[in-house]
Amino acid sequence: MLFTDSHCHFDFKEFAQTREAVAKNCLDLGVHQLIVPAIAPSNWQAVLALETQSELKLHKALGIHPWFLNDLTLADVEDLSSLVTRHHSEIIAIGEIGIDGKIAEDYDNLTKQIQFFDAQLALAAKSQLPVIVHHRKSHPLLVERIKSAKYSGGGIVHAFSGSFQQAKHYLDLGFKLGIGGTITYERAAKTRKTVTKLPLESMVLETDAPAMPIFQQKIQHNSPENIPLIFDALTDLRQEPKDLIAEQLENNIINLFSA
Ligand SMILES: [Zn+2]
Repeated sequence: MLFTDSHCHFDFKEFAQTREAVAKNCLDLGVHQLIVPAIAPSNWQAVLALETQSELKLHKALGIHPWFLNDLTLADVEDLSSLVTRHHSEIIAIGEIGIDGKIAEDYDNLTKQIQFFDAQLALAAKSQLPVIVHHRKSHPLLVERIKSAKYSGGGIVHAFSGSFQQAKHYLDLGFKLGIGGTITYERAAKTRKTVTKLPLESMVLETDAPAMPIFQQKIQHNSPENIPLIFDALTDLRQEPKDLIAEQLENNIINLFSA
């Protein structure tokens, strides 16, 4: 079985010493490719330059994450646009972008977050690329912005958590849902229940490494090597045979990114 980690910040410093070993281990575990989203102008070049000496495929996305836009202006989205044009053949998505309702409360910056989200959604449409979307306390707003932009390029709602109804809104808009470590926690009852009911065509696996720990795992940080654990948690919640689930999850990545 082959797997893709559809959301891994593999350029982060947590992997500085271990990147080659982790890459090799991923391949041994069947994790043959990672999608590496950027978060801000400060790491765009690092993401573009990221490589390993192994066969592990690294697919890149460029974008501005809602946590990191306080010191930025829309001129940075213009810079992003130029970079995307120059490196179009090296990237497969615009991301990570999104709206974070908790950060909006803490920093009173909801209007700015919406501006950046809308501008990057427009960039994705213009560049004919899908998007990788961060959410927290923001499902209704994200759905509203995607609809009002008439954006039809699809993408991934990363680290999806929520009800079946919330999931359905995104599926109707052509999005897939990133299924991560959340489902390894029994207390995440709502999301686990949603995952039992979703069509297999709607899901992709992700770790969000180095963030998002796995239940009861005592390592320093999360790693793409944990994808098989998330896959096992998913198959526990599903009726279909494991190999069929794995095959469909890979097809979902191909359909979305041609990767
Ligand atoms: Zn992320």
